[in-house]
Amino acid sequence: MSVAAECHKRVNEFGVGKCSVPMWSGYGMPAGFCDKDAYGEPVFSIGHWEDGRFIAKYVPFLACPNHGGPKTRVYLDGDMWCAVHPDFVNLQESDAGFGDTPTAARMALEAVPTEATS
Ligand SMILES: [Zn+2]
Repeated sequence: MSVAAECHKRVNEFGVGKCSVPMWSGYGMPAGFCDKDAYGEPVFSIGHWEDGRFIAKYVPFLACPNHGGPKTRVYLDGDMWCAVHPDFVNLQESDAGFGDTPTAARMALEAVPTEATS
């Protein structure tokens, strides 16, 4: 049985961790974790509908964007939280949002008008 490592539970100082969604082999045996970059804990439940019931998928810790995790990365920049998109290059070229909390930073990032950057 795989055990979630620290990188599955917490993001690092750059706001990046590993997705903790368990993967299963074709034989119904645990096969580790998704391990894609994750930027936080799940923001919505993932799962599927079965016989009119929603079967929620168990996400123990961090989740990548594909598994219901946040789509934006948040890290502490000095004494402000900074939210950026996964394709972030640097503060000159990329959109970023700042705030007193990770949530505020993400809201600020979402408020940035998206324009085609060359
Ligand atoms: Zn994942």
